[in-house]
Amino acid sequence: MMNQTNYNERYSRQIKLPQIGEDGQKKLHQASVLIVGMGGLGSPVALYLVAAGIGRFKIADFDHVDESNLQRQVIHHHNNIGQLKAESAAGKLKAINPDVKVETLDYSLDYADFIEQTRDIDLIIDCTDNFPTRFELNQVSRETGIPLVSGAAIRWEGQVTSFVPKLPESPCYQCLYPNRDLESATCAMEGVVAPLVGVIGTMQAMEAVNILLDNPQLNGVVWLFDARSMDWQRMQLNRNPQCPGCGEG
Ligand SMILES: [Zn+2]
Repeated sequence: MMNQTNYNERYSRQIKLPQIGEDGQKKLHQASVLIVGMGGLGSPVALYLVAAGIGRFKIADFDHVDESNLQRQVIHHHNNIGQLKAESAAGKLKAINPDVKVETLDYSLDYADFIEQTRDIDLIIDCTDNFPTRFELNQVSRETGIPLVSGAAIRWEGQVTSFVPKLPESPCYQCLYPNRDLESATCAMEGVVAPLVGVIGTMQAMEAVNILLDNPQLNGVVWLFDARSMDWQRMQLNRNPQCPGCGEG
């Protein structure tokens, strides 16, 4: 039957890389990741990480697929309109790689839910589009010590970074945004160009693989991307000792 996968064949191009090899691929296979948001960023993140052979996923989204999502949320297809995004995404992911375990969380998670759901998780990937959830995931990451990969994309602008709380002097999301009362501008209000979410989401997936291979690169670094000028800017992010999220207060 075609649902049998051949592990060595499937991951041969990664195992071939000396920085991954059999051991690295096994590490990826044993890893579990929580992806929050199955929209424009969550689509490439989930598609690539499932294909790359991360072993276990939780995908969280309580929203339904709307026709206006399809321009950029490439994990959802036309015939998924009206379906739960978590369900729609899980179907594609299982079709790509029947080896991986995908659990769907199709309800609105509060802080206690996130703490509970990350008990068996190695990495959190923030693919949401609103500040309240981003701050919440940052707090979960600080409390549990689980690394967090963060991405955002709107209009022609994107940014990507990661936080690895166990590294000395690791900053947190609130070192970047100390003020929690930020207005959330959404893609529905402001618009967004389709491939931008692919650029940023793929960067998030790349950093996720690096972190799971014990090679985090974006801790303390924020990459800003301008899709109009195709320009990348690297910003240093230092831990703020007065940060309300991780500082002494
Ligand atoms: Zn902080």
